[in-house]
Amino acid sequence: MNSEVMAQIVALYDRIDTETAAFQAATGLNCPPGCGKCCENPEVEATVLEMMPLALELWRTGEAAGYLERLSSLNSPASCLCYRSDPVVPGNGRCSVYPWRPTLCRLFAFATVKNKLGNPELAACIRQKQTIPDQVEGAKMAIASGMSAPNFGEIADAVANIDPSLGSDRFPINHALKQALQRVGLLAHLTLGEQNGDCVA
Ligand code: SF4
Ligand code: SF4
Repeated sequence: MNSEVMAQIVALYDRIDTETAAFQAATGLNCPPGCGKCCENPEVEATVLEMMPLALELWRTGEAAGYLERLSSLNSPASCLCYRSDPVVPGNGRCSVYPWRPTLCRLFAFATVKNKLGNPELAACIRQKQTIPDQVEGAKMAIASGMSAPNFGEIADAVANIDPSLGSDRFPINHALKQALQRVGLLAHLTLGEQNGDCVA
């Protein structure tokens, strides 16, 4: 994992954020304040590549070992370990690693999928449909009229193109984070060994 690959994934995150912000501003589509319902879903997925910036950050801040311990004790599908649920309001909560979240977390509710005819359609969030149905309908119509919004398939291809070996296969988010943490830890160990003149082969 070289710094060029890392810069490319971070640049992709910036591009997604810019495009989703423009789409939100143009349509009024947003999330209810405090909502974190989608983070409770144990089926959130990411590639290992997308979790590498977060893994680097957790090693840098000294939190990696604690995360690895908690990740190793998970024995069934679970919500993302980075999620902090609101103890008072069910369905509310926050992402504790917001700047480092992977593509699905950046795109969800503000991106399109291709329909059977190959045309983009908003992949709307059920909570938005319940709470702001007019904005959801307005956003759908805007897309049908040609407004651009990020597309899940196109972003997945962009991730895979950055590094096919780590950016193609998707895993449950906790599994992807564990692999990324282990990979960053191993690379740091090997680099340290080389600097000390150890045999690391
Ligand atoms: S995408 Fe949907 S579930 Fe997730 S925070 Fe927004 S409204 Fe809530
Ligand atoms: S990384 Fe953040 S936004 Fe994504 S599922 Fe985890 S807590 Fe939610």
